[in-house]
Amino acid sequence: MKETLLSEVEANLLKPWYRLRFSPAVETRFETDTSIQRSKHLVLTGIVALIIYDLFVFYDYIFRQETWSIAAWIRLGMVTPVGLACLYCVSRHLRPALREAMMAVAILIAMLFSNVIFYVSKSPYSFLDTFAFGLIPLVSNVVFSLRFAFAVVTSLLCGLIMAAFVVAYQPMAFEVKVYTLALFASNVVFTLLANFRLEASERQSYLLLLRKQLRANAAQAEYQALTKISITDPLTGVANRRHFDNVLAQRWEAAIAKQAMVGMLVIDIDYFKFYNDRYGHLQGDNCLRQVALEIQQHVRQEDDLVVRYGGEEFVVLLPNASVSSTYQATERVRQGIEALGLPNEDAPNSPVVTVSIGAAVIRPVHGMAPSALILHADEALYQAKRAGRNRSVLAPLHEGPLVTYIAR
Ligand code: GH3
Ligand code: MG
Ligand code: MG
Repeated sequence: MKETLLSEVEANLLKPWYRLRFSPAVETRFETDTSIQRSKHLVLTGIVALIIYDLFVFYDYIFRQETWSIAAWIRLGMVTPVGLACLYCVSRHLRPALREAMMAVAILIAMLFSNVIFYVSKSPYSFLDTFAFGLIPLVSNVVFSLRFAFAVVTSLLCGLIMAAFVVAYQPMAFEVKVYTLALFASNVVFTLLANFRLEASERQSYLLLLRKQLRANAAQAEYQALTKISITDPLTGVANRRHFDNVLAQRWEAAIAKQAMVGMLVIDIDYFKFYNDRYGHLQGDNCLRQVALEIQQHVRQEDDLVVRYGGEEFVVLLPNASVSSTYQATERVRQGIEALGLPNEDAPNSPVVTVSIGAAVIRPVHGMAPSALILHADEALYQAKRAGRNRSVLAPLHEGPLVTYIAR
């Protein structure tokens, strides 16, 4: 899925300059990643725009005293509440199109009532307002930076509203009407150009950033997959010997620091050569997988590490172990494998597959190598084999004679 998105992002980077919208999947991701920030931007700039719009009430007072109260009522009593309602909706994280439409509505309302305010007054300077109407597309196209399609439609509608009022306004000379409308149109063109550039570069930067992020994620996933492969035995899926060597060294150091005990089981399938000879190598592989799975069932999933040590030999490393818990784990594993009932009819000791297990528990101290643990467990395994197989031998806790406990 991520790879598809990455290739879509690459494709979007190659699209022609005039196409702003991304392909659907990338557009959805763009909105998800940027919508909160965009809503915040719109609400903040919207509040600033409303404050400035309302401050024009002082201008109304100076230039059209006779209609000042109407203007004040329109600004503060009508446009401001509608504007605030639009901003409230935008702050609720609407769908993108609705969010842009809300801002467009606020702009159109401001435009409409600005025209009403100038139109109802016959004061000689009232028409001067129309020269300031260019501020409205400036806010819509640059400050709010409405998405380009919305900016175009909003600017055109603003132009139509203004043209209707200006054309109908008697006290204004024809030349002044043409001039103010031409000025407004130029303003619209310039601010739309700026709007396009702003949106194009916002989208381009987003794409580059997303590509970088997706590539990093893909590299990370690949690295994790390779790491997993490099530490896993391909046949059984348990850890391999290389991983065991690393983990043993780490656990050993940790145990020294915590003065904790480390346990180890060395598990060897009994008479496996007979199994292979009788049932074939492929079935032998199958048996190894089932034994590995069974071992995993009987140890702590989080803490203990099950390893294929080589051939038909497995190891379990048990950090924070105790003598009794290690011995219990040993017997659980041995009995579990016997209970699988995998036939090994040619084995001299049992008609089913069995294992012999050598276990050791050590409280490591500085200067003691981890190989001591392996040696003790190996020695215990040897004892188990010698004692007749399908049994567990736990080496003593301290160095000295082995075999304190043979179980069967
Ligand atoms: P013991 O009880 O003394 O351990 O007898 P054993 O037959 O299990 O021991 P031996 O070392 O004589 O034989 C081990 C066999 O394990 C021989 C080898 O063919 C088999 N083996 C080792 N690796 C694999 C493997 O990956 N797949 C299969 N199918 N067999 C394997
Ligand atoms: Mg064997
Ligand atoms: Mg062996």
